[in-house]
Amino acid sequence: MTDASATRKASVPWQNARIVRIVRQTSRIKSFFFAPPHPFQHLAGQHVDLRLTAPDGYSAVRSYSIASAPGSSGEIELAVERLDDGEVSPFLHEVAEVGDEIELRGPLGGHFIWTAADGGPLLLIGGGSGLVPLMAMIRYRRSIGSDVPTLLLLSSRTWEDVLYRDELLELDSSGDGFSLMLTLTRGVSARSGDYSRRIDAAMIEEALARLPVAPRHVFICGSNPFVNTAADASLAAGLAAPIIRTERYGT
Ligand SMILES: Cc1cc2nc3c(=O)[nH]c(=O)nc-3n(C[C@H](O)[C@H](O)[C@H](O)COP(=O)(O)OP(=O)(O)OC[C@H]3O[C@@H](n4cnc5c(N)ncnc54)[C@H](O)[C@@H]3O)c2cc1C
Repeated sequence: MTDASATRKASVPWQNARIVRIVRQTSRIKSFFFAPPHPFQHLAGQHVDLRLTAPDGYSAVRSYSIASAPGSSGEIELAVERLDDGEVSPFLHEVAEVGDEIELRGPLGGHFIWTAADGGPLLLIGGGSGLVPLMAMIRYRRSIGSDVPTLLLLSSRTWEDVLYRDELLELDSSGDGFSLMLTLTRGVSARSGDYSRRIDAAMIEEALARLPVAPRHVFICGSNPFVNTAADASLAAGLAAPIIRTERYGT
């Protein structure tokens, strides 16, 4: 983080946001809908920081991307994957309840953002819960009636692990220029034309062939190893480094 972004971040106040709804999305991911007392407008791709504080004063801060589209209700949706040996994500999954207040601050993040003015086509590449900020872009694109050609290449473990699967399948069949390409690393897709292997350069080339023209922006999000692999594969497939933006979750 640069000094400037650390200063900006420090100026964004914490607030106690109430959990208004919890929705199980997959066996490992739950969505938490928060109503901040001072609602804020975010851009698609931004995140919040979430802080838990124990009675002895010990606190843990983690970042979570905002899944909701900008301009929606004032509630924000976070989709959190449970890491078995984690500190914050198991607490959210097992202890947090509707009605609880949890400290959040946001919106944060200035580089992993898409606005309508940025145009397209877009190539979005996500691994697991790395879909979350890309989903905000996809939902925003739909909410403004954009027909910017957009291809989502999403890597998940199994068909059941595909976050927002029904919503993505519905968007894929809507004919508005959005298409979904799934790759399952531990399973087989229920659709023809999907893949069952880790992302590689050949898969990126096939994704590019499904777009009408070369992408103007490429967004890649997921765990650190996932982002490294997908970024290397994108470069090997001939995409230029300056059009690629990445967001890395964890170590
Ligand atoms: C900008 C940003 C946005 C993020 N958005 C989301 C989001 O939308 N949804 C979401 O679920 N997570 C997201 N994360 C990751 C999140 O901040 C936490 O890192 C994650 O929830 C783990 O926290 P924890 O306290 O449960 O685990 P920790 O106690 O921090 O870590 C436990 C173990 O898991 C490893 N680890 C940490 N994170 C990951 C990871 N993502 N994958 C694999 N291993 C990991 C650690 O090295 C450690 O060994 C985001 C991270 C960043 C930086």
